[in-house]
Amino acid sequence: MQIKAPRGTYDILPEQSIKWQWMEKIIKDTAGQFGYQEIRTPVFEHTELFERGVGETSDIVSKEMYTFQDKAGRSITLRPEATASCVRAFIEHGLYNGLLPVKWYYSGPMFRYDRPQTGRFRQFHQFGVEVFGSDNSLLDAEVIILMMEIFKGLGIKEPELHINSVGCPSCRPGHRQELIDYLTPLKDKLCKDCQQRYMTNPLRVLDCKNQSCHQTITGHPTIADSLCPACTRHYEQVREALSENGVAYIHDNNLVRGLDYYTNTAFEVHIPGLGAQSAIGGGGRYNGLVKECGGPDVPGIGFALGMERILLAMEASGRLIERSAALDVFIITMDDKFSRHALQLTNKIRQSGISADMDYNHRSPRAQMKFADKSNAKVVIMIGEEETEKGFYLVRNMQSREQYQIDQEDFIAKLQTILLKNEEEIG
Ligand code: AMP
Repeated sequence: MQIKAPRGTYDILPEQSIKWQWMEKIIKDTAGQFGYQEIRTPVFEHTELFERGVGETSDIVSKEMYTFQDKAGRSITLRPEATASCVRAFIEHGLYNGLLPVKWYYSGPMFRYDRPQTGRFRQFHQFGVEVFGSDNSLLDAEVIILMMEIFKGLGIKEPELHINSVGCPSCRPGHRQELIDYLTPLKDKLCKDCQQRYMTNPLRVLDCKNQSCHQTITGHPTIADSLCPACTRHYEQVREALSENGVAYIHDNNLVRGLDYYTNTAFEVHIPGLGAQSAIGGGGRYNGLVKECGGPDVPGIGFALGMERILLAMEASGRLIERSAALDVFIITMDDKFSRHALQLTNKIRQSGISADMDYNHRSPRAQMKFADKSNAKVVIMIGEEETEKGFYLVRNMQSREQYQIDQEDFIAKLQTILLKNEEEIG
């Protein structure tokens, strides 16, 4: 029986991975410009970390985790997201004693046992940032500005930024009670899930995906009306800083986070053209999370972006033009007996920093030329009887179709000149 990739996973073949590399480079360079450094954490952690760090009542932990026992009987989980791992690393290495804030970015695979569909996988990829050690509202703005700069760099058109404040443990309980009082007489009109959770987790009713719930609760009491003075000021400052930096946003009363360690700013980005999977990422402040995970009381903020959806958005924007890995040089032998010479030349060229390849399948010179063309080689070098005897190479510029005889002496420097000239002409 043929073995296939597990359901909900997929291979990124070279014609796709080149787009991924391009996307990742822009994202990482942008984060670098903002002073963020990369952290890499394990793809599996102790299950307990996610139970505490993501929250046992969340869908991710209650339904979607890849959990198994290792050979020593420990419960291990493939990471469903990376914030909890970053928090663990921050605490484990005692970084709260060092220079703050710590600004990190990460990217890599995440694992969730969910029903696979378009834009939803069981192994997918996220890019994200986490900042620990500052409660400054300007930092909330910086994190959002960084996210929007990434979209700009990737050419994603019209990302729609939604923001809200979810308050803090001192102002949230008042809003929660108001919400329960508001929802109780409406409960029969809510969906099954909301009927179960409106008492235990009324905030989750606000972001229910069910349209009829959405309509039933228009006019619900908003957290904005219950914010304490400190949270009101923090939110105002974030909004002002966004406006001062030219970032457009939509204040969204329905944007919530269900867990106590989330505080103040919450945000999400949608790409309207992406249909059902229009949420491309989101984040917010989590001033209670480091403590929840066993560390000191250190504030934090971050976001995570779904990279598969970023690619979809880039395709929708028409930005993701066909990219293919162009090879600088392909070496063609007129006869198999020159192939050892070809390998030496190929390696010499590679050592000078120019990419080069050759034929290993004993093809005819004509078939090698076709292969070079398909590999998008910029320059082809031919080695044959005459060339070897007289000490030159025949070089064909595949872009201009010009052909030169170039002395084997000082050959690399001349090859560099040809490649450089080509680049200048392409601009
Ligand atoms: P979350 O960590 O749930 O807030 O997700 C952040 C982003 O990751 C989402 O907005 C999606 O773009 C992406 N994402 C989440 N789950 C999946 C999945 N199963 N497949 C693909 N992308 C996902």
